[in-house]
Amino acid sequence: MIIKKQYIDGEWVDSISNKTREIINPFNQEVIATVPESDESDTQKAIAAARNAFDNGTWATTPATERGQIVSKIADLIERDKEELAELESLDTGKTVEESRGDMDDIAGVFRYYAQIADKDGGEIIDSPIPNSISKVVKEPVGVCGQITPWNYPLLQASWKLAPALVTGNTLIMKPSEITPLTSVKVFELMEEAGVPAGVVNLVLGAGNTVGAELSTNLDVDLISFTGGIETGKKIMQAASVNVKKIALELGGKNPNVVFADADFEIAVDQAMNAVFFHAGQICSAGTRLIVEESIHDEFVSALVKRVNNIKMGSGFDEDTQMGPLISQEHLTKVANYVEAGIKEGATVATGAKRPEAAELQKGFFYSPTVLTNCTTDMKVVQNEGFGPVITVEKFQTEEEAMKLANDSIYGLAGGVWSKDIAKAERCVAKMRMGTVWINDFNLYFPHAPWGGFKQSGIGRELGKLGLEEYQETKHVFHNLKPEAINWF
Ligand code: NAD
Repeated sequence: MIIKKQYIDGEWVDSISNKTREIINPFNQEVIATVPESDESDTQKAIAAARNAFDNGTWATTPATERGQIVSKIADLIERDKEELAELESLDTGKTVEESRGDMDDIAGVFRYYAQIADKDGGEIIDSPIPNSISKVVKEPVGVCGQITPWNYPLLQASWKLAPALVTGNTLIMKPSEITPLTSVKVFELMEEAGVPAGVVNLVLGAGNTVGAELSTNLDVDLISFTGGIETGKKIMQAASVNVKKIALELGGKNPNVVFADADFEIAVDQAMNAVFFHAGQICSAGTRLIVEESIHDEFVSALVKRVNNIKMGSGFDEDTQMGPLISQEHLTKVANYVEAGIKEGATVATGAKRPEAAELQKGFFYSPTVLTNCTTDMKVVQNEGFGPVITVEKFQTEEEAMKLANDSIYGLAGGVWSKDIAKAERCVAKMRMGTVWINDFNLYFPHAPWGGFKQSGIGRELGKLGLEEYQETKHVFHNLKPEAINWF
């Protein structure tokens, strides 16, 4: 049994109330860890520590090169402890260890990327229209940042927030999902080891409606960065208005994957599966709306179903497992109800739509990979994010119709288009209202490119240079080298 504490002002502490929460393995429902269950008072303590660490100026005035070196050291330590982190992530989320190893490489890459650009943009001198003056634009940290993460990619989502906030000189309080805090705790241990000063990074473990709500409303928090569901995002947006906090929201997606008849058939089938069933579909950018040209629809669905039926479910620790369980009983019920509602709306089950029958999967929160055909854009199962291993298939005849279907969503996170006709693919990309669009690929991302949503999929961007700028204020400094009286009054 793992017993963990939380990190406030450079100390590893229990919750003030001494309450704890048990962390469950979604593969077999065994308790794997006990962690503190904090509330508003613990959060206030962490905010005060972050406020003090920001206001005393030590971290904000540490040269950017030095901050970058510390963040680079965090990347080294993640690489050193990659196997331990990967196993912990799999234990906590149910995903395969192979997937978690990939996550850890990506996470180290994010810390490394931000470490490398930490000292590359100190601002600029602009041509002043006023004689005898200097006009310069400087970048400064925003201040105290509240960071709230979801359970699907616990440490990956944390890294997208921690690394840019740190290299730009902010202080922060992180609240991971209460279901999956374990790798976040471990990375705070590594940040301490890397030499991040006390009070600069603080970790509070607890629920959204206590710890998360306090972070969103507290007047001493200057910025709130949130990744999670759309309804929570709306609440945070409202709460953050209390002191006009800066907000960055990475919300959900219901992402179209458009396949034209002239696409490479085998690759498109393979990637359509990958787009949805990776991590059991618990991916914000999962290509859950498959939109296929009518002339290849039947052949495409039958090739897809044949392969989907061979997906091997099991423990993330078994080498031949391709898909693990869903995160919790609550989420399993939600996904099952979502599919049932889709069937009632008229969708046809091409495969799945049930729990698997194998005896060894009964204790885990497994749901069979599901393909629903005869779907239309007015159905809730096509419009709402299910966040499970479920594809809905729609058909189209013309490019215009495909684009209409692709854009018919309140979400705008990501989408893909498959075609060998380059001009057609580019025409589609220009029409697709999403933050990321792939041509002949799906779900690929890297730290250098920005990530975020159009429409209700969010506000702001993570990753890339824009992800850094979320954590910076811009100040214009005008310096008059030859001051004179104005003599107006
Ligand atoms: P969620 O919104 O339920 O919870 C996310 C976090 O918010 C958790 O830490 C939770 O405790 C906290 N929270 C809950 N209520 C809160 C409140 N009132 N105030 C402050 N914090 C609160 O989401 P989830 O179920 O953990 O994650 C799944 C969702 O995350 C999906 O919708 C998915 O699309 C989205 N997501 C988006 C991205 C992206 O990059 N756009 C990435 C990963 C996940």
